[in-house]
Amino acid sequence: MGSQITGQTAIYGVIGDPITHSLSPMIHNYLAKSLQQDVIYVPFSLSPHQLRTGIEGAWVLGVQGLNVTIPHKETVINQLDHIDEFASQLGAVNTLKRTEKGYKGYNTDGDGLFQSLARHQVVLENKTIMIIGAGGAARAAAMMAAKKKAGRIYILNRTLQNAINLANHIQKFYDIDVQAYTLDQWDKIFNIDLCIQTTSIGMHPHIEVAPIEEPEFFSRIHTVLDVVYNPIQTKLLSLAEETGCQTINGLEMLVFQAVRAYELWHETRVPMNLQEKVLDHVSQYFKPKDDQKL
Ligand code: NAP
Repeated sequence: MGSQITGQTAIYGVIGDPITHSLSPMIHNYLAKSLQQDVIYVPFSLSPHQLRTGIEGAWVLGVQGLNVTIPHKETVINQLDHIDEFASQLGAVNTLKRTEKGYKGYNTDGDGLFQSLARHQVVLENKTIMIIGAGGAARAAAMMAAKKKAGRIYILNRTLQNAINLANHIQKFYDIDVQAYTLDQWDKIFNIDLCIQTTSIGMHPHIEVAPIEEPEFFSRIHTVLDVVYNPIQTKLLSLAEETGCQTINGLEMLVFQAVRAYELWHETRVPMNLQEKVLDHVSQYFKPKDDQKL
């Protein structure tokens, strides 16, 4: 955001319900200020029954781009003029970019995840990947792993049918070995290069739990990434660290998916040193203050 909002200032935002806890305004306005671009990014609370009129209204009012979060990532597709191929395969979008006739939908979650892995020199090609969960975040992770030519994917989920559905979905697009299990069947699986945790288990305020807690489980894994970012250090990551695994927190994915959206909108590249600064800036937000704990 420039120092002053003028008649020229371009408007961007995020739609969701609830939206007040979104970190996206902090990330995007920090990027805009750092890059001295005359844009502002604001949160819009939008309930499901307002989705159609909300999108139409945003376009009429000249909103240049929107991020999309829970519960609209899938349903918003019906309101779009066009959809990018990867987002179409996922069946979910998190970024809308203004076009002449409406908005085009993209999904940057997979790119955000991929970049956070790359930051830790983790590669997916030919690797054995375990995904815990089978919801929207799991779909982005699994599709990205398949796209990057992972060797094999295991999906573990509370509801087996949802894991099977996700496995079938991936195999519609990629020729890859994908197997579905329930969470307690982890003991059937060995030699996991990367485990990506995508459920909300361990998220604030229920921070004392992890989907799988047995030390034996972690001894079979090289790297654990948890998409939960509040708290930054989840119980799962603590257990993984105690067993000697490499760990990656979900804040990186959050920041990098936002950076990708920013790059799409502004047709620019955000320099790596600025991306690191954003990550640092958002991390500060989670540091407990003397008089306040998250
Ligand atoms: P979702 O589509 O609702 O999927 C939720 C998944 O979690 C399902 O597989 C569900 O299993 C499982 N689950 C939920 N509660 C459970 C419990 N008590 N025990 C066992 N399994 C449980 O949600 P989502 O959109 O994928 O989001 C999941 C998490 O990812 C959220 O915390 C979200 O904030 C986070 N996320 C982070 C990023 C990032 O950038 N870091 C990006 C996207 C999402 P069933 O199939 O059995 O119901």
